[in-house]
Amino acid sequence: MNAQQFQALCIKPDSTLRDALARLDATARGILMVVGEDGALLRTLTDGDLRRARLQQMDDQQSVDQLPAQAPITVNESEPAPAVLALMDEHQIDHVPVLDGAGRPVDIVFRRELTQRVWLSSPHLGEEETAFVEEAFRTNWIAPLGPHVDAFERELAAHVGVAHGAALSSGTAAIHLGLLLLGVQPGDTVFCSSLTFVGSCNPILYCGARPVFIDSEPQSWNMSPAALERALEWALRENRLPRCIVLVNLYGQSADMDALVPICERYGVPILEDAAESLGASYKGRASGAFGRLAVYSFNGNKIITTSGGGMLVSDDGDLVARARKLSTQAREPARHYEHVEVGFNYRMSNVLAGIGRGQLRVLEQRVHQRRAVFERYQQAFADFPQLQWMPEPAGMRSTRWLSCFTLSGPDAGRQCEFIMTFLERHSVEARPVWKPMHLQPLFSGAPYFSHQAGDDVSARLFAAGICLPSGSNLSQEQQERVMALLRRALTLSETPHATA
Ligand SMILES: *Cc1c(COP(=O)(O)O)cnc(C)c1O
Repeated sequence: MNAQQFQALCIKPDSTLRDALARLDATARGILMVVGEDGALLRTLTDGDLRRARLQQMDDQQSVDQLPAQAPITVNESEPAPAVLALMDEHQIDHVPVLDGAGRPVDIVFRRELTQRVWLSSPHLGEEETAFVEEAFRTNWIAPLGPHVDAFERELAAHVGVAHGAALSSGTAAIHLGLLLLGVQPGDTVFCSSLTFVGSCNPILYCGARPVFIDSEPQSWNMSPAALERALEWALRENRLPRCIVLVNLYGQSADMDALVPICERYGVPILEDAAESLGASYKGRASGAFGRLAVYSFNGNKIITTSGGGMLVSDDGDLVARARKLSTQAREPARHYEHVEVGFNYRMSNVLAGIGRGQLRVLEQRVHQRRAVFERYQQAFADFPQLQWMPEPAGMRSTRWLSCFTLSGPDAGRQCEFIMTFLERHSVEARPVWKPMHLQPLFSGAPYFSHQAGDDVSARLFAAGICLPSGSNLSQEQQERVMALLRRALTLSETPHATA
């Protein structure tokens, strides 16, 4: 609902019953708000109220304030969607006006919205997954390992142009094994992008290693080459060069590999590419995930394709990937009995889930197109809001737009973002802040951090003023229209100084 449509739901107390009825018909929301001179809500007016007035033989020319008084059921601006829905259930109503501190209606919530939540990024199955899963059942390959696992590894590796892949239980497990394969040991230093999901760096702690966080650059939101260079100079001076660098490709977009890879090569530090969010993206024609000595994909439920949960470690180095497979199945030695000489893990993907992955891989390109189309619709719809800046896509990079993200500019951007997200949440639309950088997390307090430039903490800025919008490949046009209308209203309302939602 836009601002005009909202205003059309508000009528004055001296309006006639006839006018109110006409307005109810025209707006077709089943409710009007009667608003006094001072802007405060006096009562609501529903079809039922007018029907009862008719039955009581009230004249059409009487004003609505002649109707029997009735205290309206309302909520305040901070009420979350589940509480609003509970209130609707309790009073058996389908709409609730939202009042500001002065009792003025500033918004209205409808039951239909609350029961049709719009997710940030929800699983989207294709047509072939069921057939693969049924095949797994029919052939009794329910145990971990099996033909789908091998095929999924081959097919995914071929798709991204890397020689080998090991299918694992999660992206996080893949990063953990990747670190171990690159020789990370307790006390070692590992560099990692700061602007990321914690799954990128929790495994650094599993290894007993010490993370050092690197800021983003404004152009790609990914690792800043300038910050990386300074961090490596520092590490060399301190004699603690990192064992490897976890280089994250954020929100479906590759990092600037032409700038970053030569720096890492100069210091002889291998890259573990975290492409969990960027499967299907490319950098100068080469697949995201094809740049690191090892790279990781995730098939968690919210990623661009999913196996409900899963991950893949890929590399051109067949020995490394073979070792990953061994470590992921309890590191069993070749022998008839169970022989073990090193620590292993239960990190392998099951044959059933690999079947889902094979079906999903077949629609990956479609999913990329769909996510990009969602992004483009947002971008076009908000072209008239110059204070809203979309995550840039530098020349030569093809993002999947896994999530559609923007930042707001201006001194008040942080408060506006809070307002907007609270507003959307009230209407059961899931929006999220940009990742909270790892160097700001209590878990990693004390870890060294290198910002893009002295005095310019880019990832902290993106977090403070950035929002991710619903971006799923199965987001319908109708749902997106709803999100955009709400966002437009929230943006406009948030520009009122001191507006808090
Ligand atoms: C999702 C994600 C992971 C972890 O993947 P899981 O499969 O959920 O364990 C790691 N890094 C990034 C950047 C991610 O977005």
